[in-house]
Amino acid sequence: MSREAVTIVGGGPAGALLAIMLARRGIPTTVYERRADPRRGIIAAGRSINLALAERGLNALRCAGLEKRVRPLLIPMRGRIIHDLDGATTTLPYGQRPSEVIYSVSRSALNQLLIEAAIEDFGVEVHFDQTCVAVDLASATLTMRNTADGATRTIAANRVIGADGSGSAIRAAMVDGGHCKSREDLLEHQYKELNIPPAADGRHRIAREGLHVWPRGGFMLIALPNIDGSFTVTLFLARDGAESFARLTDGATLNAFFNRHFPDTKQLMPALVHDFFANPTGNMATIYCQPWSLGRTTLLIGDAAHGIVPFHGQGMNCALEDCVVFDELLAGSDDWAHLFLEFERRRRPNSNAIAAMALENYVEMRDTVRDPTFQLQKMLSLELERRFPDRFVPRYAMVMFHHEIGYADAMSRGVIQQTLLDELTRDVTRIDDIDWRRAALLVEEKLTPIAGVAQS
Ligand SMILES: Cc1cc2nc3c(=O)[nH]c(=O)nc-3n(C[C@H](O)[C@H](O)[C@H](O)COP(=O)(O)OP(=O)(O)OC[C@H]3O[C@@H](n4cnc5c(N)ncnc54)[C@H](O)[C@@H]3O)c2cc1C
Repeated sequence: MSREAVTIVGGGPAGALLAIMLARRGIPTTVYERRADPRRGIIAAGRSINLALAERGLNALRCAGLEKRVRPLLIPMRGRIIHDLDGATTTLPYGQRPSEVIYSVSRSALNQLLIEAAIEDFGVEVHFDQTCVAVDLASATLTMRNTADGATRTIAANRVIGADGSGSAIRAAMVDGGHCKSREDLLEHQYKELNIPPAADGRHRIAREGLHVWPRGGFMLIALPNIDGSFTVTLFLARDGAESFARLTDGATLNAFFNRHFPDTKQLMPALVHDFFANPTGNMATIYCQPWSLGRTTLLIGDAAHGIVPFHGQGMNCALEDCVVFDELLAGSDDWAHLFLEFERRRRPNSNAIAAMALENYVEMRDTVRDPTFQLQKMLSLELERRFPDRFVPRYAMVMFHHEIGYADAMSRGVIQQTLLDELTRDVTRIDDIDWRRAALLVEEKLTPIAGVAQS
């Protein structure tokens, strides 16, 4: 691979990890990031404060030699803890092996770790407070504005990688220049981040090692634990309509809404009204953009190429996995144009698949999860995996715990598995009544063995 310099716009998870991957291979790498240096301790408000990190993201950090450093930041979440309207809770485990958990991690702490490693261990040059405001793709020239003093300067970039998230300026320039087509499917639902503070003794006020969900049909509340004893809570709700953000206009309507739908959370969130009106309401969208590159000079990666809705907790995991695939291709190619095309060829089917599954998962989390047939099928999935571990892996597990199975394969196997689950649970309400002989026949007939899935 030629050692020509690379400029990355955006120092989020994808930009920072990609910078590490490139610098490790001796490619001089510079990152321009519009936010302030996270090492100065200024945390941006608004976006989700913690995230679910799963095996794909963890594997990417492992590939970069960072797993040991990230571990102390992680809180395992072993399953969904479902909160009913009457306050009763049910735990639905995510997997059945001790390792089958996902992790809550602070977005800013993870980002800081990546940026520090990029700068201090790999010699990446990172310029903070630099917003890319214009791009001349023909000459690979970027115009950057200093967010502190407003001064602009132009930078001659030999090769540009846009890791600047779902509102990517690099993607916009590619669209404006007629080099790619892009569509943004805005969800009719929005989100708001809230907070459950730690108890007086510093401990978590509700069970620490789970992802809490209050599913209410058309909307839901979720909570992920933080290391400081608090939880980041997110309300997902329609923009307009009978139950919507548009109706929550003051403290009275907000309190009445929470009393109606989430009464058990009221004493957990003493600052509910303040936080609700102080924090921004966020939009969510799926971005479909094609192609992701222009010749040998420009590439989009992470959310800039394929932003997705957050309901599978996979956007960052997918962005980090992009970097692993890019790194593998770097090892074997000397031609950047070919590398960019090959990257897209390998990643597009997978990013399309996770985009679709993330949309489906919203309905599952806010609604289907309450359905007894769904819960029976979840139990049956785990039992089928126990009995036929090389052929049946629940779709959720394929996505969250098996980086060796691509998202596209997880989705297509998931479709076949769902027909099988439907057939086995027809007219059945208890796991003990499943016809296991028929199950064995169906698994054998419909599902090929999965290569490389670790058995235990
Ligand atoms: C509510 C919510 C919850 C989520 N939960 C999860 C989860 O649990 N698990 C998960 O895996 N994913 C989750 N995601 C998705 C995840 O946040 C993104 O997929 C991930 O951050 C994408 O990483 P990225 O580096 O591609 O983009 P980003 O994280 O958006 O980073 C882009 C970077 O570029 C910088 N930038 C942007 N524009 C410019 C510019 N013009 N010039 C210079 N710099 C620029 C930004 O400041 C930022 O640092 C969630 C998203 C939301 C909205």
